[in-house]
Amino acid sequence: MVETLSIAVIGAPGVGKTSIIRQFIYNDFSEVYTPTRTRYVYRPSVILNGNMYELKILDVPPISSFPSSSSQEWLDLRCRGVRNANAYILVYDICCVESFEYVKMIRQQIVENREGSSSEVPILVVGNKRDLQRQRFMPRRAVSVLVKKTWKCGYVECSAKFNWHVVLLFKELLGIAVARGMRQNHTSIRLQGALQRNRCTIM
Ligand code: GDP
Ligand code: MG
Repeated sequence: MVETLSIAVIGAPGVGKTSIIRQFIYNDFSEVYTPTRTRYVYRPSVILNGNMYELKILDVPPISSFPSSSSQEWLDLRCRGVRNANAYILVYDICCVESFEYVKMIRQQIVENREGSSSEVPILVVGNKRDLQRQRFMPRRAVSVLVKKTWKCGYVECSAKFNWHVVLLFKELLGIAVARGMRQNHTSIRLQGALQRNRCTIM
């Protein structure tokens, strides 16, 4: 039995969302910045602790706010699937304070806009571009304490450029999601698709 988890990756433009996803799935990195203009879905399969999961990773293009209603989500193509994701990765650039402010705003809106117990959806805050850490705007420990203690989110720093902690961050998020039982399609069996080339990532 294979379970499907949809993960929305959100963050300010240029923080490295696409780079993180592409490094995770294809071990590929480009120095050239190609802004993501439309929503893109990646469907890798992963194995964690002996169980297989199908991931539906949404690379969300820049959005000014988290969709506050289902109709807003369906009217704006960029937001499709964002409200009902099973988990969120909120990426910021450790050298750019504005990108952290953006993550702060989106986290607040997720909690306010998702109703009831679904507001407890797993959220992992990711500080990318760790290779540039001499230019960081805040010490790692201070951000980590704020995010974990006050926001009650997971926190990982990574470098998409050097593939450092990229697998770890997906493992961390999946671990939290599975522990909280945030799953969907409990009965979907799609082993064939999972075994296609480039779709199977073993963690
Ligand atoms: P997105 O707009 O959030 O999807 O950002 P991209 O993934 O397109 O990356 C934006 C730019 O940042 C590109 O020029 C990447 O090469 C660069 N970049 C992404 N991740 C890293 C990183 O970990 N370190 C460094 N130094 N640059 C990165
Ligand atoms: Mg992008």
